[in-house]
Amino acid sequence: MAQRYSKRGISKARVYTVKNAARIVGVSELTLRKWSRDGLKIIRDKRPHLLRGADLIDYLNKRHVANRNPMTETQCYCMRCKAPKNPMGGAFVFQQTSDLTGRLSGLCGDCGGKFGRFCNPSDLEFLSKVIAISHKPRAYGRAVRRGSDGISASP
Ligand SMILES: [Zn+2]
Repeated sequence: MAQRYSKRGISKARVYTVKNAARIVGVSELTLRKWSRDGLKIIRDKRPHLLRGADLIDYLNKRHVANRNPMTETQCYCMRCKAPKNPMGGAFVFQQTSDLTGRLSGLCGDCGGKFGRFCNPSDLEFLSKVIAISHKPRAYGRAVRRGSDGISASP
């Protein structure tokens, strides 16, 4: 997720071709061109397209900061918002998927899209103190036949 790219070997004072810059940073040319849509300045007056070392370093620094958005226990990463978000209504649904794993799901509080993440059932006690969690029946094994109380019967 928050991958770090090498700024070593990039000189602020130099100008690079897209190809060279990509090689130094360790990404594909395509990635650099994607970054240019995301704010990285590429000089397109002539071919080959060039970029300034200073701009690239600047972009990588900003990118690093932007990616550093730690997710709290009560958040999920929303693919649509591209950021950790709190669930709508402050609530998740938990569904245990095996003895050791489960899934939290909810709707993104910002865009309303579905999101979720895996969650260790042993974290639920803590989580339910800080956020509303409702339970779906287990999605596996005999528990389904036992009824709908899902998580309550912990071993
Ligand atoms: Zn969202």
